[in-house]
Amino acid sequence: LGPTVCVGEILVEIVATTVGNGFMEAQPLVGPFASGAPAIFISQCGRLGGSAAMIGAVGTDDFGRVNLERLKGDGVDISAISIDPDYPTGSAFVRYREDGSRDFVYNIATSAAARFGWSEGVSNLIDRAGHLHVMGSALSVSSACEVIDKAVDIVKTRGGTLSVDPNIRKELKLDEATERRFARLVAVADLLLPSGEELERAAGVEGETNAIRRLFEIGVKEIVLKRGADGATYYSREGERIDAPAFIVAEIDPTGAGDCFGGAYLTCRRLGMPAADALTYAAAAGARNVTVVGPMEGAGTREQLDAFIATTERRS
Ligand code: ATP
Repeated sequence: LGPTVCVGEILVEIVATTVGNGFMEAQPLVGPFASGAPAIFISQCGRLGGSAAMIGAVGTDDFGRVNLERLKGDGVDISAISIDPDYPTGSAFVRYREDGSRDFVYNIATSAAARFGWSEGVSNLIDRAGHLHVMGSALSVSSACEVIDKAVDIVKTRGGTLSVDPNIRKELKLDEATERRFARLVAVADLLLPSGEELERAAGVEGETNAIRRLFEIGVKEIVLKRGADGATYYSREGERIDAPAFIVAEIDPTGAGDCFGGAYLTCRRLGMPAADALTYAAAAGARNVTVVGPMEGAGTREQLDAFIATTERRS
């Protein structure tokens, strides 16, 4: 079984330490933190001891080094991350509002994160990949789409597996070509990891039960629906349903919970764990990550998650 490979944006994130609206006044910030939803996902896979590799790009700047060092330290194969001599590493600034919602300032489109393509390193990695994970957010970058399309074909044709996290914000309008690409991806996904309304959007029908039924008809084998502090629910094509209650924690920074949850779930499954046990590790990874500032600062190793599970209560 070859490595789990994730393709997409690698960014640094800088977080406002004050709560308020937008960035209109000077304020204290913390960071840079290694970030980008696909990078968070693969970091969690690596920390849990899974064989993991990343495809994406950073600049030659310090922000790029923050990411490369972090991923390498987590055991992630970074040989297919390109280093762009002309463009800076992508960045995201985030500030939380009183109601918990977030304001973002992104620099992705004009950064290295949006400029990687198919290369020899990518080709070598995809030729031995056992699993590919794709995030909807990566589909807004056309160069990433080219890599994803080709990688999905190669991995699936060879009998490898695919997971998809729609990771699409409701307010984000996708163009028709991206919608079609997203639908094609869902149709060949083995595992789908949606949260909230993404489930219905992926299925193209309304209502949770209808959406689940439709997705299994399309060919998806497993669905894990993430519900934030309300936990998660697993559905299998064979009709099994498992509810995974959330752990009780004080939420400090919700960014990255879904990516850590997904990375932990997938890694545990690929290491041979039954769904129920993988869900426990996933719920622990998501919960642990919201207790610290920074999008992947709380991603846990197996020992850290075991300790967290042993000492933290779950909702009933
Ligand atoms: P994001 O896009 O911010 O990464 P998401 O919407 O994809 O997140 P969530 O449903 O927010 O995913 O979180 C994934 C999982 O992490 C949840 O199913 C839950 O198990 C855990 N989790 C998230 N937030 C909390 C919380 N406040 N308390 C406990 N567990 C949480």
